[in-house]
Amino acid sequence: MDTLLRTPNKLEFFIPQFHGFERLSPNPSRVKLGVKKRAIRIGSSITSASSALLDLVPETKKENLDFDLPLYDTSLNKTVDLAIVGGGPAGLAVAQQVSEAGLSVCSIDPSPKLIWPNNYGVWVDEFEAMDLLDCLDTTWSGAVVYINDGAEKDLSRPYGRVNRKQLKSKMLQKCITNGVRFHQAKVTNVVHEEVNSTVVCSDGVKIQASVVLDATGFSRCLVQYDKPYNPGYQVAYGIVAEVDGHPFDVDKMVFMDWRDKHLDAYPEVKERNSKIPTFLYAMPFSSNRIFLEETSLVARPGLKMEDIQERMVARLKHLGINVKRIEEDERCVIPMGGPLPVLPQRVVGIGGTAGMVHPSTGYMVARTLAAAPIVANAIVRYLGSTKGDELSAEVWRDLWPIERRRQREFFCFGMDILLKLDLDATRRFFDAFFDLEPRYWHGFLSSRLFLPDLVFFGLSLFSHASNTSRLEIMTKGTVPLAKMINNLVKDRD
Ligand SMILES: Cc1cc2nc3c(=O)[nH]c(=O)nc-3n(C[C@H](O)[C@H](O)[C@H](O)COP(=O)(O)OP(=O)(O)OC[C@H]3O[C@@H](n4cnc5c(N)ncnc54)[C@H](O)[C@@H]3O)c2cc1C
Repeated sequence: MDTLLRTPNKLEFFIPQFHGFERLSPNPSRVKLGVKKRAIRIGSSITSASSALLDLVPETKKENLDFDLPLYDTSLNKTVDLAIVGGGPAGLAVAQQVSEAGLSVCSIDPSPKLIWPNNYGVWVDEFEAMDLLDCLDTTWSGAVVYINDGAEKDLSRPYGRVNRKQLKSKMLQKCITNGVRFHQAKVTNVVHEEVNSTVVCSDGVKIQASVVLDATGFSRCLVQYDKPYNPGYQVAYGIVAEVDGHPFDVDKMVFMDWRDKHLDAYPEVKERNSKIPTFLYAMPFSSNRIFLEETSLVARPGLKMEDIQERMVARLKHLGINVKRIEEDERCVIPMGGPLPVLPQRVVGIGGTAGMVHPSTGYMVARTLAAAPIVANAIVRYLGSTKGDELSAEVWRDLWPIERRRQREFFCFGMDILLKLDLDATRRFFDAFFDLEPRYWHGFLSSRLFLPDLVFFGLSLFSHASNTSRLEIMTKGTVPLAKMINNLVKDRD
């Protein structure tokens, strides 16, 4: 495979810092550059192969939705009930619901019509519960997990790929109908007075609002943190590709493929992978069109993108997947775990900005969409009776009640264990995890399990684990367990 991915000169993504990220590009989670060059062939060296794969980056394709957005009239100087900074899934979901209750809403985003760039995958039952089945473009009746060569697990839980265009169109349409106003700009600052706040935009426009919601994802534009920001990182490289063929069943998506035979010819990479493993996540759309994503589940510090790409090239070569064309690619850097933002604080938050990523999986979109009504209802309910700091405190309380904070602590404990597992231990862990009763593993992955059920989940996992795995969980889990208990004791209502 001597053509696949050439790392763009300006590989731009988040640089982890003590209290957040420095944003080096307008959209660090995904960078699309370059023009298709030539077909992929497998070369002799993995390095030349990966640089070759990188040559096949897709043409820059930023698609805007065809909507006439009603604009916020800057000349009126009108104070809105809610200013939402960020028009991702989290921000638009809240905009839609607060405006439905008759409140005035202004949504601010530098590219309000742009189709969201990320390839979202969700469990079908999560979208069904929100009546969003029409926003999935492909579904699979189940999923498969390859633990090792010769050991695989069939998961009979349908999985779906989100139709980003349909989801965003649906939300925007409802926002327009409900009277939401849009302002196209980046927010640079917010100034608070006792009752109202003023959002300052990059174009000099100032928008006054009773409540300000930060929905800027991992860039965390306005929400404050007061503890060292030390998340783990999920790093992944994904492509939607046209291929000659692939070995996967088109009725099942590949949730995790932990096999490592493809690295036999590359002992040094194999050694790295045995310490900090990556797996393949794949959504086969047809026999010759597939989404392939090589993923580091979580690592601290995060794996280098080039390392991940190199492993992906070797894997595709081994699987006999010949990539003819890359339609889209995504470079994914998701901070996981770490502290919650200051609770409460004047600016309210949702989604990436409010610590809502699942700390053990990196999933968030379904959880955020499910939390949007909670935030929206809280804003609508409390705006009638309180203002300023008090109002924000009520919203934060509804978003992060004690049982959700405890759940998150448990998930962070899970992440701390995963961070310590090498490839063999990770395989043993997931071997036991997917043997659990479905209500446990479904509930864990979809943030539906709370304490004390999470304790039963933990005990059940332990009882399903092999002796080696139990020993690993005990030795590697003791410090994280103590940390979790300490945090739970400190964080009592
Ligand atoms: C590549 C990738 C793939 C992912 N795949 C999945 C998945 O399969 N399943 C899943 O559950 N989760 C997934 N996630 C995690 C998570 O669900 C997404 O990151 C999701 O997009 C977060 O939604 P959000 O609305 O919080 O933030 P975003 O989608 O990041 O939206 C933030 C918005 O804020 C705007 N913005 C940023 N700064 C400013 C500013 N200063 N002023 C105004 N606007 C601003 C941005 O332009 C953007 O429109 C993925 C994440 C990434 C990065």
